[in-house]
Amino acid sequence: MKLCVYIDHFQGDAVSASWEALGAARAFGQVSAVVLGTGLEGLIEAAFAFGADEVLAADDPALADFRPETYASTLSAILTDTAPDAVLLPSTTRTREVAAMCAIDLQSGVLTDATGLEAEGETLVVTRPIYEGKLFEKAACMARPQFITLRARAFARPAHQPGRHGEVRRYAAVGQPLTVVEGYAPGESGVSLADAGVIVSGGRGVTNHPAFGGDEAAAAREGFQLLGELAGVLGGAVGASRAVVDAGYIPYAHQVGQTGKVVSPDLYIAAGISGAIQHIVGIRSAKLVVAINKDPEAPIFQVARYGVVGDLFTFVPALTQAFKKKLGR
Ligand SMILES: Cc1cc2nc3c(=O)[nH]c(=O)nc-3n(C[C@H](O)[C@H](O)[C@H](O)COP(=O)(O)OP(=O)(O)OC[C@H]3O[C@@H](n4cnc5c(N)ncnc54)[C@H](O)[C@@H]3O)c2cc1C
Repeated sequence: MKLCVYIDHFQGDAVSASWEALGAARAFGQVSAVVLGTGLEGLIEAAFAFGADEVLAADDPALADFRPETYASTLSAILTDTAPDAVLLPSTTRTREVAAMCAIDLQSGVLTDATGLEAEGETLVVTRPIYEGKLFEKAACMARPQFITLRARAFARPAHQPGRHGEVRRYAAVGQPLTVVEGYAPGESGVSLADAGVIVSGGRGVTNHPAFGGDEAAAAREGFQLLGELAGVLGGAVGASRAVVDAGYIPYAHQVGQTGKVVSPDLYIAAGISGAIQHIVGIRSAKLVVAINKDPEAPIFQVARYGVVGDLFTFVPALTQAFKKKLGR
């Protein structure tokens, strides 16, 4: 099978799941990585190091900023030239737009958010969660190329092998941009929950500590400080339930769940989170869930592999100390 993998990036900084897509593709045949933008040499080198057999690159000032219209028409032209059986993309907001537009250009279909892939002859069959993760669907696109976006962290990241090389085929940008990017400003939070291997999340329980005499904001500051220390020792990120985001105790970028981020970490620690269905749908593909909650009846314990019935303000600092000792940090 002939596969293309689209390397999604922001100004040369690749979305880590692009490399996971490369690794997944290699199980099915020859893999060409597609990189679009400007100043692409670092990405081209990385694509070979992560397993690309060749790289299809459009390094063109017209592609300096991501705009779906130019990215999609350039990608469509490259795919028309190379005729792969399937195109794998990491699932991001950008790739959902690009994949949909290319599928219309090339009269094919898109399967989004795959968590599993298998080959049936020359066709890839996708497994993906539907209905908020209550069911897993198996689906295949019969047109060519099949466009498939892969959920971040659902596939293993391949080994990085510096020094691997191959052929680079160069393309020009196609199409006229219809929008102008005037600039970028940093967001309120640089947190990237989708890429995190460990997430330590806090819920309304962080607002509940008698030492603060009912001052929920002060308790939340202390609670998130403790969760941040634990996340720091584990090399992870801090997540949150909607209750504490809505209350303004932590920015929205940290929210996990139906109206926040869907995450797939190796370890998800839920502290002071009850386990409402809208939160659970965001963590269904976490590999290991640990819950810390004062209430032994909290629904979060039904999805947790390990549960601690206790006060997070007591247990989390003790856990941090234990990990510090164990990991020598
Ligand atoms: C359309 C819609 C979309 C939604 N989307 C999301 C979403 O994306 N993400 C999301 O999270 N929610 C979402 N919600 C909200 C969701 O229904 C819940 O209200 C929310 O998840 C509850 O947050 P919580 O678990 O932090 O708070 P609570 O349900 O109030 O739970 C707090 C928990 O903390 C425990 N606790 C209290 N003090 C301590 C302590 N000191 N130590 C340890 N444990 C303690 C309590 O026993 C309790 O279980 C959505 C709701 C709707 C209607």
